[in-house]
Amino acid sequence: MTEGGTALVTGAGSGIGQATAHALAAQDFAVVMVSLEPAPASLPPRARYVQADIADLEAHAGLLEVVGPLTCLVNCAGVTSLVRDDVLALTPESFDRTMGVNLRGTFFLTQAVARRMLSQVGEGRSIVSVGSINAEIVGETRGDYCMSKAALGMMTKLLAARLGPVGVAVYEVRPGIIRTPMTYPAASRYDALIEAGGVPMGRWGEAEDVARAIATLACGGLPYSTGLTIEVAGGLHLHRI
Ligand code: NAD
Repeated sequence: MTEGGTALVTGAGSGIGQATAHALAAQDFAVVMVSLEPAPASLPPRARYVQADIADLEAHAGLLEVVGPLTCLVNCAGVTSLVRDDVLALTPESFDRTMGVNLRGTFFLTQAVARRMLSQVGEGRSIVSVGSINAEIVGETRGDYCMSKAALGMMTKLLAARLGPVGVAVYEVRPGIIRTPMTYPAASRYDALIEAGGVPMGRWGEAEDVARAIATLACGGLPYSTGLTIEVAGGLHLHRI
């Protein structure tokens, strides 16, 4: 497995992104953490923190200039629907915000990174995007979120095909129910679902579970593979009868 290099992690100020920054730093990556909120109290060794909005496409070039050549990009920044509601009540405001971060901002940042990767040489390079089990499983009250994550699945396939020839592996990691600030508001609903056997492995996922999968991919833990989707969901994705 390869170690080291520079990794940019979006959404690294909280939850899965923050855990990923720590997991990559433990594998000797110099990590650039990008997120909306102010820097957390403690950063991993050799990490830098940049407060930025990935939905602002104009800011991408400046951000990547500061960061320099990348070995790995982890797309973790994401938002859920403004309000949990019937898909027939979904508003353009929620739709645009969710798509603006989860898909538009993520895609164009990834495109900018990929273009740079094409013009640079490097070993063991990868792009890992954090999708969601909701790319497949209907979340009835978060239609825009589900649609954004479904599209991210195709983004991974498109870029895997495009970047395979230059040795950049592209993956998607699909978390299930993970204990982070994003899921706090729905915690009692998920507790009940897990209690009722809805998750085969019978527990919440932790941010570190997802971070370990991402770090494994970033370190070349799955050589000669690209375009894969890895569920880190305790079996939630399995169809059962
Ligand atoms: P979180 O709310 O703890 O973290 C999200 C992070 O993204 C925050 O640091 C936030 O500041 C950042 N962010 C949001 N908008 C941004 C923007 N425009 N620019 C830069 N940063 C931005 O939630 P989390 O659970 O850690 O979510 C991380 C990723 O995992 C998201 O993409 C989410 O959709 C996905 N996910 C989470 C779960 C779960 O159960 N928690 C399940 C499936 C997928």
